[in-house]
Amino acid sequence: MLPQVNGHRLGSDAQGEDPLPGDLQDFLGAESLLHQLDDLTQVNPVTLETVLRCLQARYTADTFYTNAGCTLVALNPFKPVPQLYSPELMREYHTVPQPQKLKPHVFTVGEQSYRNVKSLMEPVNQSIVVSGESGAGKTWTSRCLMKFYAVVASSPTSWESHRVAERIEQRILNSNPVMEAFGNACTLRNNNSSRFGKFIQLQLNRAHQMTGAAVQTYLLEKTRVACQAPRERNFHIFYQICKGASAQERLQWHLPEGAAFSWLPNPDRTLEEDCFEVTREAMLHLGIDTPTQSNIFKLLAGLLHLGNTQFANSEDEAQPCQLMEQAKGSVRTSALLLRLPEDTLLETLRIRTIQAGRQRQLFRKPCSRRECDTRRDCLAKLVYARLFDWLVAVINSSTCAAPDTWTTFIGLLDVYGFESFPDNSLEQLCINYANEKLQQHFVAHYLRAQQEEYAAEGLEWSFVNYQDNQSCLDLIEGSPISICSLLNEECRLNRPCSAAQLQTRIESALASQPCLGPNKLSREPSFIVVHYAGPVCYLTTGLVEKNKDPVPPELTTLLQQSQDPLLKELFPTNPNAESQEEPSGQNRMPMLTVVSKFKASLEQLLCVLHSTTPHYIRCIKPNSQARAQTFVRAEVLSQLEACGLVETVHISAAGFPIRVSHRNFVERYKLLRRLRPRTSSGPHRPCPAQGHSGERPTCQFSVEPGFPPPTSSSLKAPGRAGHSA
Ligand code: ATP
Ligand code: MG
Repeated sequence: MLPQVNGHRLGSDAQGEDPLPGDLQDFLGAESLLHQLDDLTQVNPVTLETVLRCLQARYTADTFYTNAGCTLVALNPFKPVPQLYSPELMREYHTVPQPQKLKPHVFTVGEQSYRNVKSLMEPVNQSIVVSGESGAGKTWTSRCLMKFYAVVASSPTSWESHRVAERIEQRILNSNPVMEAFGNACTLRNNNSSRFGKFIQLQLNRAHQMTGAAVQTYLLEKTRVACQAPRERNFHIFYQICKGASAQERLQWHLPEGAAFSWLPNPDRTLEEDCFEVTREAMLHLGIDTPTQSNIFKLLAGLLHLGNTQFANSEDEAQPCQLMEQAKGSVRTSALLLRLPEDTLLETLRIRTIQAGRQRQLFRKPCSRRECDTRRDCLAKLVYARLFDWLVAVINSSTCAAPDTWTTFIGLLDVYGFESFPDNSLEQLCINYANEKLQQHFVAHYLRAQQEEYAAEGLEWSFVNYQDNQSCLDLIEGSPISICSLLNEECRLNRPCSAAQLQTRIESALASQPCLGPNKLSREPSFIVVHYAGPVCYLTTGLVEKNKDPVPPELTTLLQQSQDPLLKELFPTNPNAESQEEPSGQNRMPMLTVVSKFKASLEQLLCVLHSTTPHYIRCIKPNSQARAQTFVRAEVLSQLEACGLVETVHISAAGFPIRVSHRNFVERYKLLRRLRPRTSSGPHRPCPAQGHSGERPTCQFSVEPGFPPPTSSSLKAPGRAGHSA
């Protein structure tokens, strides 16, 4: 281990000069120099206020990246800064001997991860976890990293080998506009908000060249297809087809100029994300040919027309609801585009089939108007979600390398940030649950492991308190009883459960959990979870139903009757490929609820992350109006608090910045003959910063005569021991 020297280790600028004045204690007074602090560990004292002032000074000076020990803080410039992302700069970070001596940058993280992978002695997979609230710049950062690897990890021979096919790097980059067109939407907080989580595994061969990529997505917000919050929009692709279709396509897809669709709110707002040509081009490069594209867009147009299908209340309960007069054409066009029999479509939307009695007889019951609307929305969500999954599978088949052609990977994680709205539901519970898991991963990998390691090595160390979120995770997912288990139980029992009853059940079953807060914020039935980033009030109305995510079997049967080749593929009649979304109803098998599926995918993700060396990038949004040159202190402050950045800085400032395994240390420094290394006699401990599972001894030195002996202070963590949070 090499100790940090007076906090100066990362302060050097590109020329290797040290911009810090000698007396750090006085540094805060020297506001004019604050913007030069490349690492927040150099701020002294480390408090929310000083960290905030430093970030503000840097933002004002157009310096958008700052190190915070092991984490990179990325402030969103909200303006184009092309010189910051040029290929020349990428190459510079890639080729300098010590990129960490250059200005903090997302490329430093990219390059460090790449060098770790390349280290012949430690072939270990890497992951870069990009976090931050909506609009903070996670997707931008991930894209930027992908471009970086497309430049620095491209294979020099691949022009040769891919003479006919598209270069793999380009294909991987092309996955971005396609996934964003289908999975992103304009929300109140971000014009290009990702409505799904994404983990991309960039696959590298033995020569460390990018040979492919695999993408895994999480929890697409499919409700957006049929329901958009006021002043928000549907997924970009719907606007793209309406604005960008040619005259002939308009005829083919029944999208006359200026047509109004109720699922297409705010169509007049033009965004740069509305560019249909970019999506089409990218799809083509991914191997989705023009007729298939046309098929996809025709289905989407069919969904838009389905959204215009409105029902009127039926005066006689025994009779199905009537179609509103103006909706008759819509249902006809929708059936035409989806290639479904119109009368079967109408009947499926308006009549429920119930199986009951010993003989499991079928009864037909007309639906209420609300039920008709729900079934219509459900049909659209079902088609869109399957289409999205299909697209992801197609992208993977186009970009994934054959298993024997890659050996290591760098994973990029871009998932939705912590969410807290006035009304929160199952979506926010899942998103915040994922953030709790990632925070725990961060804490376990960095904060706890580092301090435990110091203690185990007997280093002088004053512990920094950090927020351990295990109790919150116990509340959400713990066993035997947790919020997830209670929700699943209600789905399984399939008994009537009002919002008030659910609240009472949660409160009484989980009364002893410290993170279940008192329900004082809302008059509606709800419960409060005290997350690491703050308390969130979840309404219990509709939670159980959302968790079931029921798809009436008649809808799947209907779609299986389609004559459309793509719908046939999405809804095969093969019974083995039956929809998982079908309600399991009568205790047939463990029910696959939204929460249980999400939990399983999250566990899988965490398992992958645990097997890698993690790197962290925290994106910060300087203001909520997406304005350049605007730093709203209160907004940044709440983000700093939410991600526990100050605690991270404390531990990093007080800690040892470099960890080298004994073997590597010997290999690297054996030329320095005055140092004669010997292996630690203590037990082998895991080296968290390297993400290994153990067996890597840390270093101690024995010193030859004449070499200054290590004093306790030279091996001691420098300077900040008194700054426990
Ligand atoms: P969400 O969770 O809603 O998906 P996000 O964190 O992924 O949000 P982005 O879509 O990456 O946010 O960023 C929002 C917007 O901020 C971008 O569309 C872009 O305009 C701007 N932006 C982000 N990072 C940068 C940057 N480094 N340089 C210039 N503009 C940026
Ligand atoms: Mg995003």
